[in-house]
Amino acid sequence: MSVKVDEITLSNGQKVPVLGLGTWQGGDDPAAVGKAVKIAIDAGYRHFDCAAVYGNEEDIGQAIKEKIEEGVVKREDLFIVTKSKPGEVKEAVKCAIQVGYRHIDTAFFYENEKEIGQAIEEKINDGTVKREDLFITTKLWCNSHKEGEVVPACKQSLQNLGLDYVDLYLIHWPFAFKSGTELTPRDAAGKIEFQETDYLETWKGMESCKQQGLARSIGVSNFNSEQLERLVANAQIKPVNNQVEVTLNLNQKPLLEVCKKLNVTVTGFSPLGRPGNRYGIKNLWDEPEIQELAKKYNKTGANIACRFLLQRGVTPIPKSVTPSRIKENFDIFNFNLTPEEITKIEAMGTGARVAPFTEAKDCTFYPFKIPF
Ligand code: NDP
Repeated sequence: MSVKVDEITLSNGQKVPVLGLGTWQGGDDPAAVGKAVKIAIDAGYRHFDCAAVYGNEEDIGQAIKEKIEEGVVKREDLFIVTKSKPGEVKEAVKCAIQVGYRHIDTAFFYENEKEIGQAIEEKINDGTVKREDLFITTKLWCNSHKEGEVVPACKQSLQNLGLDYVDLYLIHWPFAFKSGTELTPRDAAGKIEFQETDYLETWKGMESCKQQGLARSIGVSNFNSEQLERLVANAQIKPVNNQVEVTLNLNQKPLLEVCKKLNVTVTGFSPLGRPGNRYGIKNLWDEPEIQELAKKYNKTGANIACRFLLQRGVTPIPKSVTPSRIKENFDIFNFNLTPEEITKIEAMGTGARVAPFTEAKDCTFYPFKIPF
């Protein structure tokens, strides 16, 4: 299979393949956290990094479920990160490049830039692609938001990836953590240590990345309409892209209009709505309307979800480490939803977010204080 993926053009002329591979191994898989989690939830912990407990999946998922049922915590108050097995993302990226993906999304926070770099190097060395055929995005993490920290952070990501430049560098979230090497710095009580660095300051560092040729383009992620408008009004180099959650549930219609007006393209993360991990968020794939469309076009629910984004001008970046799904998610270029079908799907959205990052809700720059 070797379909050439269409491209959209950023405001600075750079082209982006309209489908990308997501690589965050997270998700909040209830089948991927541990028994200790129960005690930790009682103690007040709300953020779980589950790499260390990989293997206890079922127990851990069950623990969370029980704590939710007991009313100790709500699903939306928890931030759960799981990590893939070593080498899994590398194989996924190699498989994706072979299938025809040319756009790969990662972030410093995902701690998989090295594996992705190795996969890219191998696919370049075996002649499948050239560097210039690939569009690689990575993101600045919240612990490096001071102006002077941005270029070193970008250089670190480039070193991890083994690349001279990334195609797109994004501010991952508009709010900042305490500066330092800790990915998620916490105080003695287990609370994230935030810092009120203005993203306009961070943006100056991003502009330096672009000026130094470390990033071909610069943009943001998880910015709301007001933050984006403020940034565009104050930036010397305008952001070209906003990566935000876009799903069947959260179709982002109003934010898409603002982005269009500002000449900012949109990448849609969690485009599949992280299926299987809902904890009460209804996965719209299972709804008869979506199932009927899947049947009509001889596609899957995942295909309908990604095509829905694509036809609304959003670049979906579905994540999978499963070769059959990587192929399945690429199979979205040979059918068209009708305008009526798109309108019907838009009307189904409940507005539920899979990535609300509620632990940051008291920060000045928390983006979800306003509807869009
Ligand atoms: P997705 O909506 O892409 O869902 C990923 C999950 O769906 C995985 O569990 C995957 O399993 C499963 N899956 C993939 N394809 C299929 C299929 N065809 N049928 C059934 N299940 C499937 O969620 P993500 O949150 O991972 O979002 C995608 C990407 O967006 C991330 O990987 C990351 O790159 C980016 N992102 C960015 C954020 C930001 O703040 N900027 C926040 C969140 C995500 P498996 O891998 O086992 O096949």
